[in-house]
Amino acid sequence: MSPRALDLSPPVSDEIKTTTCYMCACRCGIKVHLKGGEVRYIEGNRDHPVNKGVLCAKGSAGIMHHLSPARLSHPLRRVGPRGSGQFEAITWEEALSTAAGWLGAIRRRNPRELAFFTGRDQSQALTGWWAQQFGTPNYAAHGGFCSVNMAAGGLYSIGGSFWEFGEPDWVRTKYLLMFGVAEDHDSNPIKAGLGKLKARGAKFVSVNPVRTGYSAVADEWIGIRPGTDGLFVMALIHEILRAGKVDAEFLAAHTNMGWLVVEVPGAADDGLFARDGAGAPLCKDRRTGALSNAAGPEAAPALDAEVTLPDGRRAVSAFRLMALRYLDPAHAPEAAAEKTGVPAATIRRIAAELARVAFDEAVTLDQPWTDWTGKRHATMRGRPVAMHAMRGISAHANGFHTCRAIHLLQMLLGTIDVPGGFRYKAPFPRPIPPPVRPTGKAGQVAAEKPMPGPPLGFPQGPEDLLVDANGAALRLDKAFSWEAPLAAHGAMHMVIANAHAGDPYPIDTLFMYMANMAWNSAMNVPGTLAMLTDTKPDGSYTIPHIIYSDAFASEMASYADLVLPDTTYLERWDCISLLDRPISDADGPADAIRQPVVVPTRDVRAFQDVLLDLGARLGLPGMTTPEGAPAFPGGYKDYIVNHQRGPGVGSLAGWRGADGSKFGKGEPNPDQLARYIAHGCHWRHELKPEQRFFRYANQAYLEFAAAMGFIGKAERIVLQPYSEAMQKFRLAARGHGSVQPPSSLRPRIETAFDPLPIWYEGDGGAEAGDYPLHAVTQRPMAMYHSWGSQNAWLRQIHGSNRLYINRARAEAAGIEDDDWVWIESPRGRVKAQVRLMDGTNPNTVWTWNAIGKRAGAWNLAPDAPEATRGFLLNHLIAELLPPREGGLRYANADPVTGQAAWYDLRVRVRLAEDAEQGETEPRFEPLPAFPGVAPAPTLLRVGAPSKVRP
Ligand code: SF4
Repeated sequence: MSPRALDLSPPVSDEIKTTTCYMCACRCGIKVHLKGGEVRYIEGNRDHPVNKGVLCAKGSAGIMHHLSPARLSHPLRRVGPRGSGQFEAITWEEALSTAAGWLGAIRRRNPRELAFFTGRDQSQALTGWWAQQFGTPNYAAHGGFCSVNMAAGGLYSIGGSFWEFGEPDWVRTKYLLMFGVAEDHDSNPIKAGLGKLKARGAKFVSVNPVRTGYSAVADEWIGIRPGTDGLFVMALIHEILRAGKVDAEFLAAHTNMGWLVVEVPGAADDGLFARDGAGAPLCKDRRTGALSNAAGPEAAPALDAEVTLPDGRRAVSAFRLMALRYLDPAHAPEAAAEKTGVPAATIRRIAAELARVAFDEAVTLDQPWTDWTGKRHATMRGRPVAMHAMRGISAHANGFHTCRAIHLLQMLLGTIDVPGGFRYKAPFPRPIPPPVRPTGKAGQVAAEKPMPGPPLGFPQGPEDLLVDANGAALRLDKAFSWEAPLAAHGAMHMVIANAHAGDPYPIDTLFMYMANMAWNSAMNVPGTLAMLTDTKPDGSYTIPHIIYSDAFASEMASYADLVLPDTTYLERWDCISLLDRPISDADGPADAIRQPVVVPTRDVRAFQDVLLDLGARLGLPGMTTPEGAPAFPGGYKDYIVNHQRGPGVGSLAGWRGADGSKFGKGEPNPDQLARYIAHGCHWRHELKPEQRFFRYANQAYLEFAAAMGFIGKAERIVLQPYSEAMQKFRLAARGHGSVQPPSSLRPRIETAFDPLPIWYEGDGGAEAGDYPLHAVTQRPMAMYHSWGSQNAWLRQIHGSNRLYINRARAEAAGIEDDDWVWIESPRGRVKAQVRLMDGTNPNTVWTWNAIGKRAGAWNLAPDAPEATRGFLLNHLIAELLPPREGGLRYANADPVTGQAAWYDLRVRVRLAEDAEQGETEPRFEPLPAFPGVAPAPTLLRVGAPSKVRP
């Protein structure tokens, strides 16, 4: 062969299209290489603000997601008993008219009879609006069982939150303290950020019971006992208070620590802020000693103050209340050491390191800025300590308060949105709490009417709860009731149990999207399956109708009466909107789209298109023209461009206005999507340097945020380490106000609604003595929720999962590597194979999340490793805690937000008998294949036809 004939670099594609990855929640920009119209290869988009070209293994494996043998191919109607997996393929017209028939009857009768819940989709701005227009308050996405503690804890404290809504100042921070971070949110930015941080020699401390992922590359790993992070943080606070290492200037200028709190036990205003006649909070002026407006431009609050108000009431500063609490020996490192498993000397050292870096290594940017009072500052001074936290904090019954404790520590060190500290991402910060109330009170839900506001919001006090005159819940999941007052993301994990029990009322239709509630998203899986299939005395199903949309043959699809097959992320339009979960970074707001890069070869439709179609068939306001025609005949693509949430505010912020010359607000631009595509499917606005820090008080930023519609007015935001909103609930529990909790819940509200962070043990309903081990899960880097198990490449990494046990602990119990054990909780037992591990807290066992699959589901062979050796801990977790005095049963959840307490699980482990080795238990009946889903090939190959052979 002549050298000329050798093509050393054959083109891998004949076309390249940009879009946004959806193999996890990070939302990286990708370039999809196509050959002959088929996906050939995926690479990272170097111009994209999220990943700057970086692509993880999951992202590359998107091609196998798209080619999955588990893809559904037709709309389906159940023809056998529910859960039998017996379906017939039907046309879209049949499917949509059936769904519209069920939903239309509900809307004419009582919109509350529809429960519409979605999983980890990225179109909540659409789905929430759809529920509002339908008229049902029974709507939420999956945040209630994932992250609401993190979101609500932040939004009620600093007007923003961790997760992907804020980030460390990767360029300047010198010390990062990270708590329990999952690796599927903000994944590539965190990895890239850690790289920058380590290159600069900054210290990275990871607090996590398990040393994997980010913890494995930390400079120091603190293998804390699960659920005790709040104690650890309060001990750090104790130490920095004891050392006097707090940023008094920051606290006085930007927080409510100097505001005076009324202290009149038993009074209706006990614990509320003392206010003047105009309602302004009062402080003791540190210059004059007189009472003055604490929120005024001239305010100079004394942090440590005690006064007698003109009417004789006693009032003390919130700072004093805070300091008295955490200086108490109960919060000393010695007191925290035993429960947390972190030695007192370590806690003391970490506190000293935080203080040293914050105060002795402060950074100053030579960047003038103007604060909200009009005062010009020559520089920006920062405390280069950053913190970050995610699901490890969130998924405990004490997670809300733990999150607030971390934010309190940040505020004491003066490290919120300062150079080197935690930084907000647009559209945050927002007023605290955000001024959006949940809708769904008695007068707000009516037949054939939309609700006057969104289903989800942020109660400011008891009067915002969705309860009836007797204090009973008005939502199916009991979000925003006295059982979960600040359930800002709903409580999806309670929906099936409550619908089955008819508590607080029966529903007609459960409509779900991408929520695998018949398997890895459910607590108490066997019980949940029984609820889905249970019947009334007349033989009809207790939950009359179930509609489910998913792209794949998941376990939940088998329990639907009507299956609406979705596309994959490479086959549809999507928007990653500032109205939902944008892709902003700390230096600028950003959003993105997905465009279809390939045409589906199956009879499937994007769920968002289907939802708008149903909305038009039902005649929902906003989705129908006055003449009764669909308002968005082009489907979701049409909606993304033309829907306006408010004047000039739409799904996408870029290239607005008739000619695309505006951003943020502006009339719809018919060429908007073309502009996004020409720009790699993303838009970003770079903030001016003077707008990038102190955004709660930065005039230039606040004006920008108001112009963009992020906040209502360009008004400063006071950070709230002391939560007056929390105290209002507490006062209701003490018998004050017009909306009060039922007597059975008063002690719980009194305790949980402390205006300052507290710590209490979440036990998951188990006696620690009988069940001495904590059991937690984490998401593997190679998988996202349950989706990975149909992916031919990713399955090779995590085809089954092990139970990881601390080596010394296991050896003391006579357990060896590869042994099979029974994991037992008060709810049941699961059999799993063991892997010993040094980097695990000695009191903790753990496993990867959502690897175990039901035989036959996801088009897996009945003997697939996911089904025979993969297991879930879900079977061991109950959605309700054991009955208490009077038969009362609380949800297995945080009492403030209703967040599912997955990580409060307690177990014991014992060796399985020899005869029991080899396979997991419990096992369930294999599910049959869906019509139109061909048996999976034993070998799935991609790209072979275009392979170049010499
Ligand atoms: S981090 Fe997530 S979004 Fe980014 S490439 Fe990987 S899977 Fe895709």
